[in-house]
Amino acid sequence: MKLADAVLQTEGLLLVVTGAGISLASGIPTFRGTDKDAVWKRDVTELGTFAYFEETPAGSWAWYLSRFDKVLGARPNAGHTALVDLEQWCAKQGREFLLVTQNIDGLHELAGSQQLVQVHGSALKVRCSRVGCVNGSPRGTLPRDAVDIAKFRAQPVDSNVPTCPACGALLRQHVLWFDEYYTGHESYQWERVVDAASRAELVVFVGTSFAVGVTELVLSSARERRVPVWSIDPAGRPQPYVQLLAEPSEEALPALVKSLPLT
Ligand SMILES: [Zn+2]
Repeated sequence: MKLADAVLQTEGLLLVVTGAGISLASGIPTFRGTDKDAVWKRDVTELGTFAYFEETPAGSWAWYLSRFDKVLGARPNAGHTALVDLEQWCAKQGREFLLVTQNIDGLHELAGSQQLVQVHGSALKVRCSRVGCVNGSPRGTLPRDAVDIAKFRAQPVDSNVPTCPACGALLRQHVLWFDEYYTGHESYQWERVVDAASRAELVVFVGTSFAVGVTELVLSSARERRVPVWSIDPAGRPQPYVQLLAEPSEEALPALVKSLPLT
């Protein structure tokens, strides 16, 4: 059985869930992988929290700037592009498609994916830390490029942390932290993910280590409903119920799209 056959033998919602593995070929280290440069290998559950931001805003900002300097220069790879092609192929078939990504690198957005949920937020945006602030869209957010961080970079102290142009509260990263919930901001679109998980007719995981809430939800729902589940991951360990395709996504995804009939 090939993945292309699984695509052709199913109808209805095709749900793709991507993790850090798809961005490896774009030069972004995985959070939990064996990559020796993995940026999140220590202190992540302490530093990636609202509690840490509250306690030391400058420390939180400095840590994310060091992380995001690598992320923000990255470009989409052939895997990201193939998922855009797959979405367009589905549209031509009149088939529903949704891409849910755990990645905050913005590369699916840059590649051109439309039916996209960035369930952990985006490094391309920051947002006001005051929950009631409605400035910007989605609520409280503004593009990272619109924020002047030169002063903070020159002197990374709490008093130089960038502030919201509307209300003056401190700006924060627009990412889901370990002590926060998927429902914490509407642009994480958690309800859309829950709905998709309950209806998907085929699920394809790409480059995920199945370590977060969203993969657990999607996988358990698919198992219960007995719909096929695939995982594209060269480093993937066998998972119960999951058909593993142990190839790099930047090769497997273009190959998949190429093997689908054009009509
Ligand atoms: Zn504000």
